[in-house]
Amino acid sequence: MAASCIFCKIIKGEIPSMKIFESEKTFAFLDINPLSYGHALVIPKHHGTKLTDIPDDSLTELLPVAKKIAQAAGVTDFNILQNNGRIAHQVVDHVHVHMIPKPNETEGLGIHWPQQ
Ligand code: IMP
Repeated sequence: MAASCIFCKIIKGEIPSMKIFESEKTFAFLDINPLSYGHALVIPKHHGTKLTDIPDDSLTELLPVAKKIAQAAGVTDFNILQNNGRIAHQVVDHVHVHMIPKPNETEGLGIHWPQQ
């Protein structure tokens, strides 16, 4: 954990978030400035700015959790995005994977968030 990191503060509950998932090593919540309805962020609890700063065993759940969130929300089409470094448009210095739902042109998003 890093004292000044906003995502570490979200994990600790010091900054409120719309939490979707939590396990021993992983945390997921809704993006505060969503690119589409249901835009979620999946993060390792281990603090590190870049993928190379995080041990492999703290990274293994990120994609499976993003997939499960999409499935649970009824999202069939989505983008997975991971910005790694400033030049790659990373703004928050704690590794995160974006799950960005894409609307279905005929049926809309069809998101049904499960009860918390
Ligand atoms: P990046 O460009 O990949 O670093 O994306 C950082 C993401 O974090 C952006 O999509 C922001 O909207 C999101 N974000 C920043 N602060 C918060 C917050 O406090 N809660 C939820 N999402 C946040």
